[in-house]
Amino acid sequence: MTRLLLRNTLPRKINYAMIKKIKEDNLLMETNGGIRKKLLPIVIFPIILLSCLITVTGVTLFYGFYTQSIRNELVSTTDTLLDCLNFAISGDYRYENEMLLKGDLNITDSTMLLRIKEQSQIDTTFFWDNLRIMTTIEDEYGISAVDTKAVNEVTEIVLNQGQRYFSKNLTINGSKYIGYYVPLKNAGGEIVGMIFAGKQKDLVYKKIIEVIIWFAVFSVIMIVVSVIITLKFSSSMIADINGINRFLKAISEGNLRSTLGNCVVKRNDEIGSIGLYALKMRDNLQKLIERDALTELYNRRSGHNMLSAISQKNELYCVVMCDIDFFKKVNDTYGHDAGDFVLQEVSDLIKKNVSDYGFASRWGGEEFLLVYRLGYEETVAKTRQLRESILEHDFIYEKTKMDITMTFGVADGTEYIRYENVIKKADEKLYVGKNNGRNQVVA
Ligand code: GH3
Ligand code: MG
Ligand code: MG
Repeated sequence: MTRLLLRNTLPRKINYAMIKKIKEDNLLMETNGGIRKKLLPIVIFPIILLSCLITVTGVTLFYGFYTQSIRNELVSTTDTLLDCLNFAISGDYRYENEMLLKGDLNITDSTMLLRIKEQSQIDTTFFWDNLRIMTTIEDEYGISAVDTKAVNEVTEIVLNQGQRYFSKNLTINGSKYIGYYVPLKNAGGEIVGMIFAGKQKDLVYKKIIEVIIWFAVFSVIMIVVSVIITLKFSSSMIADINGINRFLKAISEGNLRSTLGNCVVKRNDEIGSIGLYALKMRDNLQKLIERDALTELYNRRSGHNMLSAISQKNELYCVVMCDIDFFKKVNDTYGHDAGDFVLQEVSDLIKKNVSDYGFASRWGGEEFLLVYRLGYEETVAKTRQLRESILEHDFIYEKTKMDITMTFGVADGTEYIRYENVIKKADEKLYVGKNNGRNQVVA
């Protein structure tokens, strides 16, 4: 049974310590970049999403504008060709012996068409009826599209209906084209053929890919800049949060002397506010631990610690032990609340007297230990002032005036090495005063 108990308790203790350690390690790990890890996706994902949206919208808009500008280019090419032929050469079009004639002039010459292609990458074609008789269109092996025919849809709209025709999706000689057809008419209005101008879609795609690359580069730059800004901004924020973390850890370990960097408290945001409250919490904790709740004087333990520190540094000091005379009577006559009131009033008078020269602590119920960092004579003088101020003070509680006096014992710190002996000496003198009729300073 005992063995079983041991077995159950021992590992549990070890496990508890291990769990605590793991928790602490996790806490540390979380402070090492936890927030940053959560912050980065919040910043990066919307940028990536926005970049994609901008790219898709941008490319769509660009495609629309670009095809419109190509259409305008094709319209002006075909119109220029038509105008050149109609105004420069008189007569009707004829196609004889594989020659295109206008009037009597043979216009079967591809030089102009080749120059157009060279300058603006626009392919042009002359049709006699729906047969290509002159063209710059070639397949990937360099074989010309001459003697091939236009598709039915084009023939119907341009040749039969006499309308102009534009399409973004033409396939000519195995290649994709954006193209424009206009009817070729004789002076009488008779349609004898067509003029075609078109741009290979590969060129359009190339341009769009160029645009996408620009958008991608812009997006990457935006992401990099945002990440840098986020890291820079978050690093000061995380440093301050870690500062508060360390500060609270120190307080949780009982180090109430720990403090927080000024830059944290100066922050005009939630982190600054957390820092301020953490400092306030430390101050209040310090008050709770070091001060007496009723009088707000130092408590006995703090009094001991502070006096010990002074005596260790061999600094000049005197100790005064004092006690309210016949305090039990105050409680018995006027009630406990009146007694508390007297304790507070007396403490205020003590604070006023001591504050510039040392400190005061509530040693027991109505007993106080005062430490003056003064020489003996000066301490005696200050103590006499205090006795008089208490004697002359009006202690009025609920319209009832109470006569309050105190007895004091003064001891010189230079007389003893151990501060405990100085306290003892002051205590002895206090009791001399008590026995000699009270309301006096025994120096
Ligand atoms: P002496 O002049 O010899 O010092 O007489 P005394 O009556 O002051 O001394 P005694 O030790 O007999 O009584 C002290 C009283 O102080 C007893 C206790 O009830 C009261 N006392 C201690 N602490 C408090 C407190 O916090 N509030 C109140 N109201 N009374 C307290
Ligand atoms: Mg007393
Ligand atoms: Mg007493």
